[in-house]
Amino acid sequence: MIPASFDYVRPASLEEAVAALDGAGEEAKVLSGGQSLLPLLRMRLSYPSVLVDVGRLEELRGIRDEGGHLAIGAAATHDEVVRSPLVNAECPLVALATATVADPAVRHRGTFGGSLAHADPAGDLPAVAVALDMEFVIRSSSGERIVAARDFFVDYLETALAPGEIITEIRVPKLGDGWGFHYEKFHRTAQAWATVGVAAAVRVSTQGGRHIEEARVGLTNMGSTPVRATEVEAAVRGAELNGQAGTNGSGGGGSVNGHPRSQEGAAPGNGNGAGSAPHGGPGPRGALRQASELAAEGTSPPTDLHGGPGYRRHLARVLTYRALGTAARSALGG
Ligand SMILES: Cc1cc2nc3c(=O)[nH]c(=O)nc-3n(C[C@H](O)[C@H](O)[C@H](O)COP(=O)(O)OP(=O)(O)OC[C@H]3O[C@@H](n4cnc5c(N)ncnc54)[C@H](O)[C@@H]3O)c2cc1C
Repeated sequence: MIPASFDYVRPASLEEAVAALDGAGEEAKVLSGGQSLLPLLRMRLSYPSVLVDVGRLEELRGIRDEGGHLAIGAAATHDEVVRSPLVNAECPLVALATATVADPAVRHRGTFGGSLAHADPAGDLPAVAVALDMEFVIRSSSGERIVAARDFFVDYLETALAPGEIITEIRVPKLGDGWGFHYEKFHRTAQAWATVGVAAAVRVSTQGGRHIEEARVGLTNMGSTPVRATEVEAAVRGAELNGQAGTNGSGGGGSVNGHPRSQEGAAPGNGNGAGSAPHGGPGPRGALRQASELAAEGTSPPTDLHGGPGYRRHLARVLTYRALGTAARSALGG
């Protein structure tokens, strides 16, 4: 389908972009990589009268180390994020999840800020944003404000952004030492959106036996907004990791494109199974499993061609088990 007609503005600076948006009011829309907005225009699900193209503004590009956090420019492409040595060193969960977004062509055009502003609950980055407590730096003619990720995602494709506002950068806190990370994504065809995804960050202590000190878990596509699985986070705190501890050899957490095993009992990384407790029972793997059983609590998963709420709840539990196990293993250098 051909989009409805619109005016196209390509400002030379952030200031010009803010002025262009201000002048056009609610009829204007920010355009960045166009990977989500252009399909909406073509389907006439969106018909702004003005597009303000910020995708090439240098002020919105780049990735900087600002001490306690990384500042990722809103118009940094997915490909730049995946390849960034800073992101890989300081916030690897961001690189792991971004590497699963679509295909190389989309990752070269689509942007970090555009993906988050689009707020598709099936998108991979919003769950990472809530798990890592990212912050959005937002500019408009009224000045600058900062919005925490937990307040940014309001509903399906809806954010706290008001008309005339532009995300300039996203701040990703550095978590420090002792953390391991994993993004576990289930999708039915390669390079597609997640049916369900789980972003996990796990801090492991080796003082007085290996155990999980802290965990962050974000869920993709388990509601109209990304979900922070706080019940899992609380339940897994203190879980002992001696023995196999879900930190097993053969990659139960598996690749980001791995499919969950069909039975509920399938354990993450049960390479040799030695030293493990029976599934769900006492012992380290039981502790991760029991915590993962809470992954679907308080969620409202959608129904679509790929499955209904029951199927997605099952996936959330299995994928959380895998993600926690693999993140814990990576925290231990495995
Ligand atoms: C074939 C295909 C497969 C895909 N698969 C996946 C996938 O597996 N996982 C996934 O997460 N995503 C996937 N996507 C979406 C992709 O990640 C897009 O890049 C992303 O959703 C939008 O980024 P963009 O820069 O293209 O934004 P645009 O399309 O330009 O804009 C998207 C929305 O964000 C707003 N916006 C953009 N930048 C800003 C800003 N700086 N400030 C305020 N608002 C802004 C726009 O107004 C618009 O509402 C896929 C897309 C395609 C085409």
